[in-house]
Amino acid sequence: MIQLPALSFPQDALKPYISDETLSYHYGKHHRAYVDNLNRMISGTKYEQMELTAIIRSSSGPIFNNAAQIWNHSFYWNSLTPNGGGQPTGKLAQLIATGFGSFEEFQKQFTSCALSTFGSGWAWLVKKPEGTLEIRSTGNAEPAFLNGDTPLLTCDVWEHAYYIDYRNDRGAYLKSFWNVVNYAFAEQNLAI
Ligand code: MN
Repeated sequence: MIQLPALSFPQDALKPYISDETLSYHYGKHHRAYVDNLNRMISGTKYEQMELTAIIRSSSGPIFNNAAQIWNHSFYWNSLTPNGGGQPTGKLAQLIATGFGSFEEFQKQFTSCALSTFGSGWAWLVKKPEGTLEIRSTGNAEPAFLNGDTPLLTCDVWEHAYYIDYRNDRGAYLKSFWNVVNYAFAEQNLAI
């Protein structure tokens, strides 16, 4: 059985940037549905006893889609925090300066990646195997680790992530994202 991980903050903690209504749907309904769907689909199959990442690496079609979306959403909730925003520090700040020239340029490129992701997908900050940082977009359910990259942060740009709060205005959602982004989580992922 794959479990729905608990959020590390109350559902109203990201207000006014992301509402409790969005969290109640996005976490309480969408994320939960991926978990329920996957458990139903893997029951009695070779996937039943596997770790989530092993299921993602060895499946395709609906099992892959639901498993990958469980992983992506857990990673997304960890990429957000009520005490977020501001600027990264330490090693992450250094790598961002080296990789993008400045924090402002990183923010600009990440926002542009999120805005130009066509349809449903994810914007990611990843660490390449050689240790440099990169901003990438993936479509639909694809997680950023499948090509060997180490994901550091993600922003969900499926419409269900922002439609309640911002309707079709993905740019307004991105502005809010920068107020709740969790650089401490990204820094932890650097060590992986
Ligand atoms: Mn989502």
